[in-house]
Amino acid sequence: MFFDQITFLLAIGVSSGALCVTLFGAWIGSRRDSFLLDWSVGLGFIVVGIMLLSAIGRHYDPVLQAASFTALLTGFGFIYAGSMQFRVGMTHWVAVWAATGLGVLSTACAFMLGFSGIGTITANLGIALLLVLTGRQYWDGRAESPVAMVATAVLYAITAISFALCSLAIALERKWILTELPANWAEGINSVVVIIGLTGIGALSLTVNQARISRFHRMEALTDPLTNLLNRRALIDRYSSPARPRTAAILFDLDHFKSVNDTYGHAAGDLVLRHFAEILSTRMRISDIAARVGGEEFCAILHNVDREMAVEFAERIRMKTEEKTVASIKGQIAVTVSVGVAYSAGHGESFGMLLERADQALYRAKTDGRNRVKSDEIRLVG
Ligand code: GH3
Ligand code: MG
Ligand code: MG
Repeated sequence: MFFDQITFLLAIGVSSGALCVTLFGAWIGSRRDSFLLDWSVGLGFIVVGIMLLSAIGRHYDPVLQAASFTALLTGFGFIYAGSMQFRVGMTHWVAVWAATGLGVLSTACAFMLGFSGIGTITANLGIALLLVLTGRQYWDGRAESPVAMVATAVLYAITAISFALCSLAIALERKWILTELPANWAEGINSVVVIIGLTGIGALSLTVNQARISRFHRMEALTDPLTNLLNRRALIDRYSSPARPRTAAILFDLDHFKSVNDTYGHAAGDLVLRHFAEILSTRMRISDIAARVGGEEFCAILHNVDREMAVEFAERIRMKTEEKTVASIKGQIAVTVSVGVAYSAGHGESFGMLLERADQALYRAKTDGRNRVKSDEIRLVG
């Protein structure tokens, strides 16, 4: 081989150590992402495992080798745990410890019975199993970021195969008891694959995480934090082109909302806003859009509706708002809402114009006495 085993172990140890520190630093900056800590701890165990393996040197010591495998299996167990946390937001520790424990116990038993070769086989198979389970997490989560997640899953699979080959090589040589560290063709392949796999997986995992953070910030910039509806900016972003035919824009403005704040307090006012947002969003179809476009102003965009359906919808929301009072420490709060409906027949009118017409209808609902729905055509409802 071009490089000796110690050089490879050193390279793997250094890259694992660097990645361990990088991930720990990332976790310090974002403690909610506990998978970063799991990965960092996992790599820490792997570094310890590699150091123990390097310490064996010329005089073969099965105790050191068994300790090294225990550290390596624990390390890969933590990496599996982190990947589960990364994908689904939680870790099934029972699954992690069952898979890790299987590898550690079978390896320990074999070493204790004096069969260091068999122990080495089971340790490598245990690591391969943990790598396959980890890769499976990325494969199952490939919808989020297909290229990076599938590439990560493939790297895990290749690395798993390289560990399984190490077991195969010892089994083929029938070396059930070792007198030195294995140094066969499979170990050579494994060293190269681990270095490539480790660097690739590290880079890809950080890339996917970064993309996820950017997506989260973008979502946050487009979401109203009080009601979790879209905000005005999101609405404008979404509807920059002309309004499609059979689309209705409906504007809602809570009546005399200032006096709700004055009478019951600002916190109770917030409660009313959340309450109204819930009335609105729970009555919309999945294809419709609800947004909070101002302090106590909301907008609904309904697609594929006729004018009557849109007005009926607005009336239903108005009635529910009037019916459902909100409990506060100063008593039940009753609110009403005025609504303006504009309908697009699709003559290339801009979305802004459609909203402008809804606003004019809303203005008429206010000036005609509030707690009513007005449509942009001449008709009276409520
Ligand atoms: P009108 O019937 O004419 O719409 O009267 P109004 O009192 O509802 O309208 P006005 O525009 O005078 O007052 C709106 C109030 O909404 C004033 C503001 O304090 C309140 N508001 C705006 N944003 C929030 C918010 O996030 N929370 C609370 N609690 N109040 C808000
Ligand atoms: Mg207003
Ligand atoms: Mg108002």
